[in-house]
Parts: sequence; structure tokens; C-alpha cells
Amino acid sequence: MSEIDKARLIELLAFPRKRILQSMEMRSCPHAGFYNANDEQCLNCHQEMECVWMNHNDELVAVEEKSVTEIKQQLLIAVDFVDSSLTPYHLSRRDCECDNCAWLKKTQKFLALN
Ligand SMILES: [Zn+2]
Repeated sequence: MSEIDKARLIELLAFPRKRILQSMEMRSCPHAGFYNANDEQCLNCHQEMECVWMNHNDELVAVEEKSVTEIKQQLLIAVDFVDSSLTPYHLSRRDCECDNCAWLKKTQKFLALN
């Protein structure tokens, strides 16, 4: 995979980053969103998946130093997240053009080709 494709992968992380952050309830988090794998509260938190993802991929993390495989894995998790957060309304519309569906479509296509 070329550097250009890797840059594109990193670009694709921007949408779920915003999307997952929006869906998280930071007010109820005693750690201000910093995941702690040794803390029981984190392990039992209903936002564990989102939180772990954010801690791996937010803007403070040097994603460009990660391997392409790793970025792809993180994107796949994000695809699952966005996909499962959509109401049946989106799925039943054949060509939904909302941000979620547009991102899902282009990310899945890109991952399938690379
Ligand atoms: Zn949609």
C-alpha cells in the first residue's frame, strides 16, 4: 500500500472520531474519557468499546505511525459502530446520502479494494 493510500485511511478516521465522541456521555465518566484498563469501572462501563476506540484513535494519537493493518482494524471497528447505530430507516433507503451512510459506503468500498 502506498503512502497516499495510508493518508486516505487516516482521513477516513476523522468521521467516526467525531461521531463516536458525540455518542459518548462524558458527563458520567469519572476519568474524563481516558480509558484505564486496570480500572474496574472502565471494564464494566457500557461505553467501553467507544472509549477504547477513542483512546486509540483520537487526535492526540500519532496514527500516522501505526501500520496500515492496524489502521484498517480500527476502521473496521468504526464501521461496525456506525452501522449498528443506524436506524432501520437508513438501511431501508436504498441510496441514503446522510453523513453516516456516505461514510460507511466509501469506507467499505476503500477497505474492500485495498
Ligand atoms: Zn443514512
